Amino acid sequence: MSKSAAGGRRGKPASLRRSQEARPIEQGTIRKKWSGLLPVALLSPGPYRAGASNLGLQLVYGLLNQRDELVCERFFLPEHPDTPLRSFESSRPLGDFPLVLASVSFEQEYLNLLAMLLAGGISPLAADRPADFAPGRPLVVLGGVAVFINPEPLAPFADLMVIGEAEPILPQLIARLAAAFAAGGTRAEVLAELARLPGCYVPSLYALDYGPDGVLRERRAIGGAPDRVERVLLVDCESAGASLLYSEAAEFPFHLTELGRGCGRGCRFCAAGYIYRPHRLWPAEAVARGLATRPPGMHRIGLLGMETAAPELLAGISAQLQSEDCALSFSSLRADRISPPLLALLTSSRVQSAAIAPDGCSERLRRVINKGLKADDLLHAAVALVEAGISQLKLYVMVGLPSETEADLAEMGDFIHLVRERLLQVGRRTGRMATLLLSVNSFVPKAWTPFQYHTYGGLSREEAAACRDTRQAVLALQGKIGYLRRRVGELPNVLLQADKPERVLAQAVLARGDRRLAPVLLAMATRRRPLHAALDEAGLSAWAYAVRPRGEHEVFPWDVIDQRIEAGYLWHEYQKAFAEQATPPCRPGHCRLCGACGTPAAPFQLATAKTSG
Ligand code: SF4
Repeated sequence: MSKSAAGGRRGKPASLRRSQEARPIEQGTIRKKWSGLLPVALLSPGPYRAGASNLGLQLVYGLLNQRDELVCERFFLPEHPDTPLRSFESSRPLGDFPLVLASVSFEQEYLNLLAMLLAGGISPLAADRPADFAPGRPLVVLGGVAVFINPEPLAPFADLMVIGEAEPILPQLIARLAAAFAAGGTRAEVLAELARLPGCYVPSLYALDYGPDGVLRERRAIGGAPDRVERVLLVDCESAGASLLYSEAAEFPFHLTELGRGCGRGCRFCAAGYIYRPHRLWPAEAVARGLATRPPGMHRIGLLGMETAAPELLAGISAQLQSEDCALSFSSLRADRISPPLLALLTSSRVQSAAIAPDGCSERLRRVINKGLKADDLLHAAVALVEAGISQLKLYVMVGLPSETEADLAEMGDFIHLVRERLLQVGRRTGRMATLLLSVNSFVPKAWTPFQYHTYGGLSREEAAACRDTRQAVLALQGKIGYLRRRVGELPNVLLQADKPERVLAQAVLARGDRRLAPVLLAMATRRRPLHAALDEAGLSAWAYAVRPRGEHEVFPWDVIDQRIEAGYLWHEYQKAFAEQATPPCRPGHCRLCGACGTPAAPFQLATAKTSG
């Protein structure tokens, strides 16, 4: 019997389908009576499955609902375009909320966000919203890590953007907003006041001038806004951030607990390694408190930040979780962080798949990206994980990294053959044959990294400057993926998964984009225009955003954020990459290398208040 004949979704009228779209069962949902409270919508621009696993979103939800004067309800992107956009908690439409917050984690969510605003009847462009604010014409506040890295492509859609971590920013911001809603006033008046708060960016208070070559020349703050917006980070926490909500429909249906924030390894491609500086590792007691907040019967744990945690902390937690009969779920591990207690916990947890990230295809490239991992570390980790019971081992690499050549790719091909050989030996011994999955991803240069000056596609700077369109970059990446596919794609027990460079190009455009992309995003969201057509209509080119190499002194759109990294540091790191020079991992309190830790006379204060996570 076919699915539709059996009464599956596809064959039903939309009205019936809508009425039958069941809301996932969730534990921990907060439902408040609305009477006399300020309603706040919290948008997660993705499906429930992803949003419900976003610990940051959960923490914001908890922080907002802690306040007696607010009621916060969540909105997820409906699975089906016919499904009306309604809040998860009370099924109210977005038009009932005078304050809309959205947390954006990836460039891929930008179009979803616009679709949700449009579906809620909200003018997507901030400039089109009325002077007052009320349900139906709300104040729109955007935050999340994508906003924190480069707010500019979304800036025209936001009244206000939150730059930094929620805990030290939201309490003050929400108190001011609640007062403003009670007192009235115009949108412009309220925003002018909010622009003075730490971590608050009001895009309409900045004017940008571009040169005839389309490159940003100057940014001017107007109306008393600060020249740059300093990002705000949490100083430390007494109880590590941990799950508040649980659902079997979530991607990670277990108790997530964070071990810290940021990373001090200094990988040159990774924005999180720079914007969260200095990295913070929560004390063992704080992690224990976070773990202890799990509800009775919840024995599956997910630890966030395992790649950066101190080996002793990880070993201690592993032993504790095993003694409490808990199982560990995790997505990726740093190859040199694997300890005997962790392996024992993996075995008892019956974890089936694990990922380690060489990131660069060769030892030389791992020096270029400052990864600090040798082939022996990776091989040892692969064997240890499979011996511990992992049946699918994923290796994550990027292609198109600066200075990459075919010799680097060939080294990865040889390495896969070697790992496979070792895993076969383990399989013969244990009777279990593991699968090796090579995940090949096109490298996207990100703002606030040493590679922000580089080019998408792995072309040399000279080639990239000369080509003037994106075809050569996309072809180069396709060629690299094809090479790896030929080298290892046919091997038994080896799978190769690769992205499509022509699709990743959109991410590369947005990652270093500016606010001129707003009409492009709108055309894509409302008229389903393809990226290149929408860029053409706006008189813009994908090459200029994604492929064009940047110079040392270029004014970047994202420089409006002060990430506390000294001018020149990222360029210096970029030069060190080509010289294959290592930069040691962070040692907060003992190092002044990048500026994020301040000076001995004026050590940088992460946040003025100590806040519980
Ligand atoms: S100053 Fe040193 S320790 Fe502090 S964030 Fe920068 S590199 Fe890391």
